[in-house]
Amino acid sequence: MTAIARREEQLWSRCAGCASLLYRKRLRRNLDVCPECGEHARLGAPERLRQLVDPGSMRPLSDLLPEADPIGFVDVLPYPHRLTAARASTGLAEAVVCATATIGGHPVALAVMDFRFLGGSLGCAVGELITRTAERALDDRIPLVLVTASGGARMQEGALSLMQMATVSQAIAALREAGLLTVSVLTDPTYGGVAASFATNTDLVLAESGARMGFAGPRVIRQVTGRALPEGFQTADFLLRHGQVDMVVQRRSLRGRLVALLAATRAGRAARAGHPPVPRQEPASRRERLADDDAALARPAGPAAAVAPSPTPEAGQTPAVRDAWDTVRMARHPARPTTLDYLDSVFDGFVELHGDRLGGDCPAIVGGVARLAGRHVMVIGHQKGHTTAELVAHNFGMASPAGHRKALRLMRLAARLGLPVVTLVDTPGADPGVSAEEQGQAAAIAENILTLTVLPTPVLAVITGEGGSGGALALAVADRVLMLENAVYSVISPEGCAAILWPDRSAAPQAARALRLTAPDLCRLGVVDEVVPEPSGAAHDDPAETAHRLRAALLANLLPLLDVPPAMLVRLRRQRFRRFGTTRGVNRAGVR
Ligand SMILES: [Zn+2]
Repeated sequence: MTAIARREEQLWSRCAGCASLLYRKRLRRNLDVCPECGEHARLGAPERLRQLVDPGSMRPLSDLLPEADPIGFVDVLPYPHRLTAARASTGLAEAVVCATATIGGHPVALAVMDFRFLGGSLGCAVGELITRTAERALDDRIPLVLVTASGGARMQEGALSLMQMATVSQAIAALREAGLLTVSVLTDPTYGGVAASFATNTDLVLAESGARMGFAGPRVIRQVTGRALPEGFQTADFLLRHGQVDMVVQRRSLRGRLVALLAATRAGRAARAGHPPVPRQEPASRRERLADDDAALARPAGPAAAVAPSPTPEAGQTPAVRDAWDTVRMARHPARPTTLDYLDSVFDGFVELHGDRLGGDCPAIVGGVARLAGRHVMVIGHQKGHTTAELVAHNFGMASPAGHRKALRLMRLAARLGLPVVTLVDTPGADPGVSAEEQGQAAAIAENILTLTVLPTPVLAVITGEGGSGGALALAVADRVLMLENAVYSVISPEGCAAILWPDRSAAPQAARALRLTAPDLCRLGVVDEVVPEPSGAAHDDPAETAHRLRAALLANLLPLLDVPPAMLVRLRRQRFRRFGTTRGVNRAGVR
């Protein structure tokens, strides 16, 4: 390409909507919205911040974090190579940019995701940065504004990415308790673990025109259902029609809408406090004043991240009893005991409670009151089945939004009645169907995760079979997390991971190994507290002995929790999930 041609290319841009050739400066003046067809081009985080905040008001929050490759992930490329490339191409340290600023004179803390950086994926660093931003909002008693753009949780950090959904959610829960407004602005695209946590469990959810949001992506849904998707599926208008967002906003109106919402809530807070809203003085001494926002944003991010050596667990340090892929197959074995089997063998006097009180009773989630060694508990679990007919009847243990809302109802009921909650997790994942998306799967999961982070009663979770991503976490934010020896717990299925990061799905066994989804691995990473050994062979070879061991483990872990005051429980649970924000808690030997 000649220099002139290159220069011409820099000056012009082709609209993805109508293919018009647009003068780049004109496009930028129009906020990157095509003047011909209205297509909203994706924005990087720095440009988004420029458009939203008052000029000169932005104070970037630190993005200094230890270099992290917490599970030593390698697909066709080592993960650190992918990180380095993303940093070089975006000039950002991570997939989120965080700052305090004012919007129309109202102080806010903002976290803005950038899809260009590894698909805006949520890993430990992104989770930590957003959590710190939420904590800053709490300290300063100001609203939190999140702008989301993400494909979901970051596969390369395994289950630790999944934990970030809980870490950020509990920071949002703290803002909710403090009466501070949280707003998320969905932009295109917002999917997976981000959709099923902080993108939808905020007080207000705005969708920018052109945004698409959902728990499962269109490709996955087409693959699972074998059906063409309805016109406009998961678009902003679809979300509005199905009651999942407060409003759809054109980019040019976004700032104005935020100003109006911030003003209204501020007026309410001031009225409660008995004094009129007074513009807050920025304590200049605390923060470095920067010449202007552009200078702040232009600062190179590269070296910022490389502070501490990566706490990569060495490959092969585990005396692997069973290969990860064999464990996956064991966890999915049709004869493996189900939640209803355990309710029969481990608990007594189970009384099932049905329904979400909103219009459905999902058969993939069973729950109710039962006794464990004479003590009353609320048990909630995913139900699969042994025969094809049973599996179909229970939707293969894939909960619908109604299932998650039933679980939520039972958790809250348990807290009101002073009953501890025991959850049994066995799901390939949440239902990835069209109607699940229409009924708000992402928000249903997000609300469960948030509620569990602050539920004022003991919560004990056991991964008994498959712990499939957000659907598993929706029942697994707990004081203690146990895992049966041949269960698996993962941010994505090995097949799904292989399809994305390897040339094809036949790499599922390699993906299973790379994801560190076995009980011993997760115990070392601190995601799981205790491994419950299975009888020789596996759980299904001796269900009675499995039940006996599970019962003993449940009692040993539950009884000490019963003596802890609820406020202390919640505090300790928060600490448990807060520590996943960084990998500092895991040293080279993998011992916390
Ligand atoms: Zn256009």
